[in-house]
Amino acid sequence: MGFIVDMVFPKTCVGCGKTGKYLCDKCFEKVEVLGTDYKNKKIEGRIGLFKYHGVIKDLISLLKFEFVSDVKTEIGEIISNQLRENYPNIVEYWQTKKFVIIPVPLHWRRKNWRGFNQAEIIANEVGKIIDLHVNNKSIIRCKNTKKQVTSNKIERNINIKNAFKVTNKLPKNIVLFDDVWTTGNTIKNIIKIIPKNRNIWVLTMASGN
Ligand SMILES: [Zn+2]
Repeated sequence: MGFIVDMVFPKTCVGCGKTGKYLCDKCFEKVEVLGTDYKNKKIEGRIGLFKYHGVIKDLISLLKFEFVSDVKTEIGEIISNQLRENYPNIVEYWQTKKFVIIPVPLHWRRKNWRGFNQAEIIANEVGKIIDLHVNNKSIIRCKNTKKQVTSNKIERNINIKNAFKVTNKLPKNIVLFDDVWTTGNTIKNIIKIIPKNRNIWVLTMASGN
């Protein structure tokens, strides 16, 4: 089946149009890599991998807005390779301490409309490659927050407050994952409701607007 799909819709690079991959090696080399920046007493650390622009933004858009679902494998590989190359000790620590990746949940109504939660399917790819469990059941979104891009900052804060619930099955060691970090409000609000006796890392693929 994969073969037939490939023949009809060949993968072309979002950067240069070359066929073969959604992001070719040459264009990937030009991608801006970020370090960790966000500090919060409740978390052990945060890794933001790339800047949210150019080919990285295009790659995420393919998955999120154009529903090109097989781009997830490539995105998963890019994230995993970046983690293993730049943060090998952290990855090892996560593996040893059995950290569980928790994708930022999407409200079921929006999930039904789109058909999937992109953070969840990317998290599944990453979990497979770096050998970490993924859990999408222990933090749930209970309110369907307004579409973020159209709201102003204050509205956005009100919208997202109390939007999440933690269930009693929350793992001890958590890597909160989201594809894009814009204001960080979503993740900050999730961190607020996580009990103090948990170890938290934040991992995002891309940061920016
Ligand atoms: Zn390219």
